Amino acid sequence: MGCGAAGTSSKRVCSDAQRYVQRELAGAPKRAVIACEGACIKGEVARSAANLLAYRLERDRAVRICLGDAATADSGMLALVERAPEVIAVEGCPLHCGTAILHTRVPGLATTIIDASRLFEYDRSRYFEVLDMPRAELDAHAAEVAEQIRREHFAR
Ligand code: SF4
Repeated sequence: MGCGAAGTSSKRVCSDAQRYVQRELAGAPKRAVIACEGACIKGEVARSAANLLAYRLERDRAVRICLGDAATADSGMLALVERAPEVIAVEGCPLHCGTAILHTRVPGLATTIIDASRLFEYDRSRYFEVLDMPRAELDAHAAEVAEQIRREHFAR
């Protein structure tokens, strides 16, 4: 069993997320990367780009945040956000849902918002659902977006 309410407490904790958080808290603070996690092509590209950025391209300087946990649960993701020198929000579109969701728990928290939909092109009349687009194409767009974010926000 990995996740659930802890004992009789109302706290919601995912033990896998908690392990990741504890490992990260043992080191120096890193930039926190959230994504809107939307269910359409744009959300999927944002989510995948955030993963590439934090888990591969800038692993030493960025930590990946489970948005749902940071906004609603108690596994420690919020602590990673609160100690981060910068919170980078990779948003799928101008609605900026990732930031809006985080603000339900931490009103006014400053995020560096990146609208990923401005960083790649695709045929919007043809695609909406994530599974409509071949995975290789999604991954290529995510790589393109992640590289641009890296160049513009991690060069310093
Ligand atoms: S920001 Fe746009 S793509 Fe992301 S969850 Fe919100 S509506 Fe969907």
